[in-house]
Amino acid sequence: MNYQHSLNGEALDLPLGKVVCVGRNYAEHARELNNPVPTSPILFIKPATAVVPFAGEICIPKGEGECHHELEMSVLIGKPLQAAGAAQARDAILGFGLGLDLTLRDLQSRLKEKSHPWEIAKSFDGACPLSGFITPAQLTDPQHTDLSLTVNGSLRQQGNTADMITPLYALIAYMSQHFTLLPGDVVLTGTPAGVAALQAGDQLMAVLGEGLRCEARII
Ligand code: ZN
Repeated sequence: MNYQHSLNGEALDLPLGKVVCVGRNYAEHARELNNPVPTSPILFIKPATAVVPFAGEICIPKGEGECHHELEMSVLIGKPLQAAGAAQARDAILGFGLGLDLTLRDLQSRLKEKSHPWEIAKSFDGACPLSGFITPAQLTDPQHTDLSLTVNGSLRQQGNTADMITPLYALIAYMSQHFTLLPGDVVLTGTPAGVAALQAGDQLMAVLGEGLRCEARII
């Protein structure tokens, strides 16, 4: 739905590809859902059809149980990466931003109980609001950057990318061992603790470091 990659507010001539995500990359979040802390990254993919702008109004599914926000640092990939190392992964990053890994938690829990894949709980249309991106140079240190989400004026999620279990560049390198990353693909790097259900009418404000802020309303 009319999402286009942008860098510092300028539209980029870059296709929107897949969104490669990691589960439980912050230990406190794994614990809040009573999940074990994984020994290797748990990967999943949201298709391009899941992406909508993290701005204006964000429409969540109705009648499917709780839809949780997971605020995550997003990474825009600018060069192809296949079986890459960490240095190559770092060099391929075009920008950083914020994303919401919207999750139908009740549905996901039912699927997990049956040991089924939980794709439909995370990859539905609209499941991935993405902000515009800022350049890597606009963050003092991407691996030591605060991110926070406020809902209706109350702080819900607050974290620092230093607390990732698999750090940024190693994570992207690991992803590229399994899936070729292409220019226009996006990586979501995991959510800090504080995930909770969204309600229609909720007003969201998300901040990344000093450089990026975005607001949206849930409908
Ligand atoms: Zn997530």
